[in-house]
Amino acid sequence: MTDTLLPLYINGQKIHSNSGETFTNFRPLDGGVECEVSLASKEDVDQAVRAAQSAFETWAGTPGMERGRILLRAAEIMRRRRQELAMIEVIDTGKPISETPYADVDSAIDALEFFGGLAMDIRGDYHDLGSSAMAYSIREPLGVCAGIGAWNYPLQIATWKSAPALAAGNAMVFKPSELTPMNAISLAEIYEEAGLPAGLFNVVHGKAETGGLLVQHPEIDKVTFTGSVPTGKRILQMSSETVKHSTLELGGKSPLIIFDDADLDNAVSGAMNANFYSMGEVCSNGTRVFIHDSIKGEFLKRLAKRTENLVVGDPREVETQVGALINEDHGQKVMGYVEKGLEEGATLVCGGKRISVEGLERGFYMSPAVFSDCTDDMTICREEIFGPVMSVLSFSDEADVIERANSTDFGLAAGLFTKDLARAHRVVKKLKAGSCWINNYNLTPAGVPFGGSKQSGIGRENCARTLDHFTQVKSVYVEMGAVECDY
Ligand code: NAD
Repeated sequence: MTDTLLPLYINGQKIHSNSGETFTNFRPLDGGVECEVSLASKEDVDQAVRAAQSAFETWAGTPGMERGRILLRAAEIMRRRRQELAMIEVIDTGKPISETPYADVDSAIDALEFFGGLAMDIRGDYHDLGSSAMAYSIREPLGVCAGIGAWNYPLQIATWKSAPALAAGNAMVFKPSELTPMNAISLAEIYEEAGLPAGLFNVVHGKAETGGLLVQHPEIDKVTFTGSVPTGKRILQMSSETVKHSTLELGGKSPLIIFDDADLDNAVSGAMNANFYSMGEVCSNGTRVFIHDSIKGEFLKRLAKRTENLVVGDPREVETQVGALINEDHGQKVMGYVEKGLEEGATLVCGGKRISVEGLERGFYMSPAVFSDCTDDMTICREEIFGPVMSVLSFSDEADVIERANSTDFGLAAGLFTKDLARAHRVVKKLKAGSCWINNYNLTPAGVPFGGSKQSGIGRENCARTLDHFTQVKSVYVEMGAVECDY
């Protein structure tokens, strides 16, 4: 256990809650206590919002070039602290160190560099209205943005939200998930060292109640949320009270379709990436794997062999490929889905067992599970499990599989494997999902929009258009002639 109490970060200062209240942050890898965390009170939230409001005024008038430079400096500092931040993420999330330097820290660095570069090019339009008039539009920052994060990619989420917000001239109050509060404070330290003026990035810790204080706060202009669909709906309702701009990155139950001409080893790799990365705790995972009837047997054989060889264990060890689930409750929920799959008649091809890791017995580890003989109506094929559980379904007809792939209220992501490029583009056009991959899965390079359709969300992150969600348009009509008047 660390001997410190994880602070809030308000107006450039690490402070503790004025109520003195705290909550406990547990380590997924062994279930032990990592630290106590300062729980933000209503007064703390108000103080953070006031600090953000007052810093916003100057920041909004700071040239984009200067704002961008600070983000680029933050990227350099983050790169210098890469290994340390990656290990903090391992401790906070249970994800293996073989992943976190790349998927978490590098992805955050990319966002800082991407939006740092774009900050100097935020501009509106010019409208030619003939010889005696013109109009132009200005993209203005919104003001104070609340960022609320999920626990699976804490540093990435905090950076994917704050980098575009700050690039566009806004201030942010960020609430990380109560399960993974640590790296939001590291990010605050990095921004401070990079020269970000106090008050522009604030961190308040807490649970649903603290999130609610932000969403309902009258002085907050925008909410950017990452989390589950039910919470997203609640947030949308609450933010409607003050008509806040709201963007939502929510859950999914995404399809991955493997056609009979696919490169089979690549398809197996894609399916494994789409289900077992970060212990399956990834929103965009392709958890419904539709495999063409004619290659199902060979696909399952190769998939099972490689899945059984995955190294489950201490996430701090470099050879570990599958770490600990976030906590016991979530692990039990995932195992409940494994039981449900068996009860409803799916065949467990491999995995799906709790594993005891020596010395880390109170962590929740499990062998990645593959179910075959799944049908569309099974619970494991309909609900987001958020764990390493893959459901394999079979198909024989293109039109039929598209319909089945789309038959869900979610619409976050989708993927397909085929060598037939005409088919690839034809099918992708019909898939109702915000992020699609052809012949790969779950890659999210900076610049490529990420986000969901249907109930998986509103808005897009990680791309130039994200700046539209952090700005509003002011149009200006300019008269250069006489004013026509009928009166
Ligand atoms: P969650 O909805 O339980 O919590 C997310 C955040 O919202 C946390 O910070 C939590 O404290 C806060 N919160 C909870 N109730 C709230 C309320 N009433 N008002 C305000 N804030 C509230 O989600 P989670 O369990 O942390 O994360 C897992 C979910 O996130 C999965 O569904 C996953 O698919 C989704 N997710 C989506 C994306 C994406 O980009 N689309 C990325 C990561 C995770």
